[in-house]
Amino acid sequence: MVTYHKLMYLYKDAFNKKGIDLQVAKAFLFELCNEKGIDLYLELDNDADLEIVGRYENGIRRILNDEPMYYVLGYCYFFGYKLTVNKDVLIPRFETEELVGHILADVDTYFKDRDVKVVDIGTGSGAIAIALKKEESRLDIIATDISEEALAVARNNAKDNDAEIAFMGGDMLRPLIENGIKVDILISNPPYIPNKEEMEASVVDYEPHVALFGGDDGLDYYRMIFKDAHKVLNERHLLAFEIGYDQKEALMKEAEKYFPDHQIEVKKDINGKDRMMFIRHF
Ligand code: GLN
Repeated sequence: MVTYHKLMYLYKDAFNKKGIDLQVAKAFLFELCNEKGIDLYLELDNDADLEIVGRYENGIRRILNDEPMYYVLGYCYFFGYKLTVNKDVLIPRFETEELVGHILADVDTYFKDRDVKVVDIGTGSGAIAIALKKEESRLDIIATDISEEALAVARNNAKDNDAEIAFMGGDMLRPLIENGIKVDILISNPPYIPNKEEMEASVVDYEPHVALFGGDDGLDYYRMIFKDAHKVLNERHLLAFEIGYDQKEALMKEAEKYFPDHQIEVKKDINGKDRMMFIRHF
């Protein structure tokens, strides 16, 4: 028999050696318990449920093999909403929750008391679209992705969260252009990692490259969106992007070329890194 407390620390040395924070093991155990209605922190000294022990040990092995904890778990939380994730979709990051928060603030400021048409390009798990719809029901949201596998995950997540979203398959803005759809807000967290950038094994070995890499400088997908944006935007509009922490200047230059009479703002994330770009025309 083994207590939950013992389980929590069982792989401490292995995690240290691997350079993974033991918090990951604790969070994993917490979720496994939570699923069974067990309050881990009240039951720390109790003998652990055998099924949990099995799942924990098996999962920890995968995590020590660099697999992201949320893929092992099969779900994560974004803006408080539970989302299924698997190898077909990027695991939503905390920084992206901040993007959603800022978009909601802009909706309040610039689109008061009216219906707003929104598109999320490259929705992946559906995280951004779902959080926005749940937080602001008057948003009429389309979410696109080129990956049918990702769209299947996103559709399920929308259903599980009771969020009404119109999903469309296709590359970048094409689904909108082909259907003559115009929006007020265009959002994207496109793949923005430069192709040759070195990354942690947990990301590069497991997460979908189609959601990560954005060409030599990482900016290819922004350029594609900037170039065609005028075809899908209503007169008054907002574009909102997540960006790489070191892309502010290069992307500003690109944005100024395409949007000379717009207000362009870059915001930092909670870690003080440049992380979001807002391009406004009101
Ligand atoms: N933020 C992600 C990472 O650092 C990348 C997401 C993206 O390319 N849009 O792994």
